[in-house]
Amino acid sequence: MGSVVNKVKRWVKPVIQAMQPYHVADASGMVKLDAMENPYTWPEELKQRWLVELKEVDVNRYPDAHAGPLQEKLREVMAIPENMSIVLGNGSDELIQMIAMALAQTDRTYIATDPSFAMYRAITEAVDVKFKGVSLNDDFSLNPDLMLSAIDQHQPAIIFLAYPNNPTGNLFDAKVVENIIQAAPGVVVLDEAYHAFSGRSFMTRLNDFDNLLVMRTLSKSGLAGLRLGLLAGPNEWISELDKIRLPYNINILSQRTAEFILAHHEILDAQIQQICQSRDTLYALLADLNDIQVWSSATNFILFRSTIKPGDDIYHGLKKQGILIKNLHGNHQLLAQCLRVTVGTEDENIKFLDALKNLL
Ligand SMILES: *Cc1c(COP(=O)(O)O)cnc(C)c1O
Repeated sequence: MGSVVNKVKRWVKPVIQAMQPYHVADASGMVKLDAMENPYTWPEELKQRWLVELKEVDVNRYPDAHAGPLQEKLREVMAIPENMSIVLGNGSDELIQMIAMALAQTDRTYIATDPSFAMYRAITEAVDVKFKGVSLNDDFSLNPDLMLSAIDQHQPAIIFLAYPNNPTGNLFDAKVVENIIQAAPGVVVLDEAYHAFSGRSFMTRLNDFDNLLVMRTLSKSGLAGLRLGLLAGPNEWISELDKIRLPYNINILSQRTAEFILAHHEILDAQIQQICQSRDTLYALLADLNDIQVWSSATNFILFRSTIKPGDDIYHGLKKQGILIKNLHGNHQLLAQCLRVTVGTEDENIKFLDALKNLL
């Protein structure tokens, strides 16, 4: 047994040994405002009808390998252009992993903005590809000059752009995004995880480019527990990615549940509308506080900075009062003393604000 450490050291890839595990904070008993979940569940009557459908599912059988009926429903609800193909992932995280694997080769580089969604870097490093983070401007807008010179220098196989961006909450300028797509030698993955809240999209522009893929997820709109993401683009790209997709990656319960709720998507739409209203209220109340700097958001979360008290103190002070949000201090110099709060129910938002006021 003493040799297990040596064997692991010898055989596990050094990049993986050097990685930190993805940390998920323990949220038991807390008001959970850290992970951009939709705080609302379904009406009781709808849940009953859902359970009746699940009762018919044969879990002894493998699921539909291509999730055909679900693909059709998603195409309709997300208005995917007819000539474009799609591939589904067990969350969009899995789609990032698929495309990162498919294009991975020694001496290649993938690019994302910095700050941005942490999985772009983590997955790039796990597939042994170099990662280049390109700094945003002070106001979190894209810096076209920095981006274009990084493209020129690194000739990236993939550029990941979150539209809107996480954790900053803003939408990048569409014209600058377009220039980046045109300048990119490889593929641009436009991650529209917050599309439901921003209403802005490049989905209708897929036909204008030969190197654009648009990614969506159902996680932020109310189905985080299902794990379902989608990548849309020209069949030439998608059919290659589909070769490395594990055959039954979307399980049978996720398929049936997503089909069921998408047939009633007006329920989710109403929840999203409510969240957008609550976000605007929460933004205004945060903006009224002294010693807090707040950024407007096209998502279901709000980025803010504590200008006098250390961000760490705010994070731990809120936690002591039973409120869990995300501490971003230490992630990037632009995020010094910054925190990210997910928009919850009206009641949760008030609890958060009261707890925050106690600390200021
Ligand atoms: C949350 C998030 C994802 C991950 O979504 P899943 O579908 O739950 O894996 C992807 N991209 C961005 C920008 C996100 O914020």
